[in-house]
Amino acid sequence: MVKHTIASIPGDGIGPEVIEEAIKVLRAVEEIHGNLQFEIDSYDWNCKRYLETGRMMPEDGIKTLAPYDAILFGAVGSPEVPDHISVWELILPIRREFQQYINLRPIKLLKGIESPLANKGIEDIDFVVVRENTEGEYSNSGGRLHVGTPYEVVVQNSVFTKMGSERVIKYAYELARKRGSKHLSVATKSNAINFSMPFWDEVTKEVGVDYKEIEPKFYHIDALVAFFVSKPEIFDVVVGSNLFGDILTDLGAAISGGLGTAPSGNINPEKKYPSMFEAIHGSAPDIAGKGIANPIAQIWSTSLMLEHLGYPEMAKIIVDGIEDTLVDGKVRTPDLGGTASTTEFADKIIENIRKYA
Ligand code: NAD
Ligand code: MN
Repeated sequence: MVKHTIASIPGDGIGPEVIEEAIKVLRAVEEIHGNLQFEIDSYDWNCKRYLETGRMMPEDGIKTLAPYDAILFGAVGSPEVPDHISVWELILPIRREFQQYINLRPIKLLKGIESPLANKGIEDIDFVVVRENTEGEYSNSGGRLHVGTPYEVVVQNSVFTKMGSERVIKYAYELARKRGSKHLSVATKSNAINFSMPFWDEVTKEVGVDYKEIEPKFYHIDALVAFFVSKPEIFDVVVGSNLFGDILTDLGAAISGGLGTAPSGNINPEKKYPSMFEAIHGSAPDIAGKGIANPIAQIWSTSLMLEHLGYPEMAKIIVDGIEDTLVDGKVRTPDLGGTASTTEFADKIIENIRKYA
């Protein structure tokens, strides 16, 4: 029996509702695989805890998580706690301390879901965005001078390091090679952002020397977002800095079915530290407690976790089970036009996953 330890952080709002279903999927995977066991510990690190104790996570939170094989994260956020606290005091420290420098977001239109893009189907929307996850434009560097005067000056720095750029670009090339792509699409803006972006392009070409069969294609970010909408079929692997990747991935979620289905992984490729898998969506206070959240984003994120842990065949049957349920179409949550509850939808998905046993 192979055992994996998983830290679960359900969070707030619909986070715990979708995590519960994701854990049921893991239990089904244990049965189907037969030689696999997940030891799951749950941590109540959320906004409620913040309001009670003044901290999102305990002081030794990072130390507590370090020994786990992976982290399954729901969503955090509450109307009573400023968003910068829930993000900067929980999610960002985990991403940074564990060198989760890859934010991996599959942009894949699932069978049975209609894209808001007219005339674009599942063969057109099937790519992956690799977003830099630790530096770049989100570097917490800068300042304000002469605040409140007409002479106020605000500086926000972007920090790009050689190591930080190289490792994410290398990961993107490797992924492109694994997927058999001829191209790697690179988000840039070297015509206007005249230090960081020419550097980013240079590093892309340098790293590319080891990937001769893959041609880097540079797109200025403004043109790139337009192509996501007009020609999504030209993409296979797209790599971008922290800010550009953030924008691209939310747009990617929108063209492929919306927040209810979009998964992500925060990955430390060296597996020196645990990686974290989470739905892209937030805690959705508007529907929390109603039992109608779409569980697909969290279940698909769990599939990404299984792939990372070395079980691609288990990862695949989860996505197949999700697609079979969508194609059948009878059971779905309201965001996809149905009337089913979170649990009914997840149970149907699990029933379909079990058919691959
Ligand atoms: P949100 O993703 O929570 O919700 C946006 C809209 O999408 C809402 O109408 C919501 O009902 C809907 N939605 C989201 N997930 C859904 C699902 N699984 N099924 C059906 N509908 C779904 O974004 P928001 O409203 O901007 O933010 C709410 C809170 O979540 C804020 O506090 C924000 O900071 C936080 N947030 C957290 C994360 C995270 O934990 N990584 C990410 C984004 C937002
Ligand atoms: Mn975003």
